[in-house]
Amino acid sequence: MKVEQRDLELIQEAIKVIDRNFDEVNERHTVGAAVRCKNGKIYTGVNLYSIHGSCAEFIAIGAAITAGEREFETIVATRTQSEGGILLPPCGNCREMLVRYAPDIQVLVQTGNGVEKYSIQELMPHH
Ligand SMILES: [Zn+2]
Repeated sequence: MKVEQRDLELIQEAIKVIDRNFDEVNERHTVGAAVRCKNGKIYTGVNLYSIHGSCAEFIAIGAAITAGEREFETIVATRTQSEGGILLPPCGNCREMLVRYAPDIQVLVQTGNGVEKYSIQELMPHH
């Protein structure tokens, strides 16, 4: 799927939230996520560590759902700018969560061809 200007803006939001919260000293908050709802609103999150921890995607989707959102358009996760701002593909647990809560969401990922956009259905086939 074609990457649009609004997708690049979403990546910037994810970079901004992790740049603001990256804690190099304690090695906390290394990933930021941004999700755009179908109404255009953007919610962000950073990852939290514990035994199981929580990915940034969970925090972003959780913030959106807490605010009453149910319809999601696009999500992206990224490392901080100081670590190169590399986009991270969603882990298996996040893919499972996105299929359940955002079954028609698009996911921005970095490949050898640059930034590409896939549906969660493509990233989590045969679920
Ligand atoms: Zn994850």
